[in-house]
Amino acid sequence: MLYVTNLSFSIKNKKLLKSINFNANQGEIKVFIGPNGAGKTTLLKVIANIYKKDKGEVRLAQKDIGLLKPKELSRIVSYMPQFSEVPDITVLEVLELGRYTYCGTKIKRQDRDIINNIIDNFSLYSILNLNISTLSGGQRQKVLLASCLIQEPKILILDEPISHLDPKNQLDVLRIVKKFTKERNIITLIVLHDIQHALHYGDKILMMKDAQIRYDINTKEIQKYHLNEVFEIQAKLFKEENHTFVYYQHSHLQTKKYPHKH
Ligand code: ADP
Ligand code: MG
Repeated sequence: MLYVTNLSFSIKNKKLLKSINFNANQGEIKVFIGPNGAGKTTLLKVIANIYKKDKGEVRLAQKDIGLLKPKELSRIVSYMPQFSEVPDITVLEVLELGRYTYCGTKIKRQDRDIINNIIDNFSLYSILNLNISTLSGGQRQKVLLASCLIQEPKILILDEPISHLDPKNQLDVLRIVKKFTKERNIITLIVLHDIQHALHYGDKILMMKDAQIRYDINTKEIQKYHLNEVFEIQAKLFKEENHTFVYYQHSHLQTKKYPHKH
């Protein structure tokens, strides 16, 4: 279990995180949603120990994540940033980097099996020898996510990992993340903007606004007032076959011919 307690963080006297408290269970996907600037990226960076917190604690069972040395940290936490520069190396080399924390630069048989399994899952065969910097944004995202999984973390942290993917790839990637989380019994923290995806793939939804957590609920507990308040939009929710669907209300009152609201 991951315990985040009384976490706060500021840059130049600006409070970017105000006393954050939440837990996350193994085998669970926790989706972070909230408007731009809410503090989602900052929170994930503090949890991944990229930013040093001012106060509070991030603990996995007995381990204080904030105190781990880089090597141990990289075996526990795998983090995919929202924006990243890619190195000037091939896709295969990027994937191999994911194993270095375990085997140094010498890839062993069992590391190769792990890499090949992920290549298979993500259908990366045709691009293995291409330089990652020459790929499309969507292809890069898939490769970086694949490299995170190859690292075999206990906590997988993904900041908007599907923002550049087409609909089919979005679904494929979310399905792989869900399968991996359940099979390995790891903790996955993921920022998504698509609330529909959050509802379908998340076990828990954590909603942030103004550097704070507003709601931390089971996906099934979602109500329209949550979305209306956090995003300041009018949303409607529909339930069908035990799934919740979200619909954003909007109006076309400015059109001359058929003004309407729906
Ligand atoms: P989100 O990921 O929810 O869109 P961020 O965590 O990126 O939000 O940003 C939260 C707030 O912190 C924003 O107001 C942003 O401008 C501010 N912020 C983020 N990084 C820095 C930084 N390095 N220096 C100053 N302000 C920052
Ligand atoms: Mg962000």
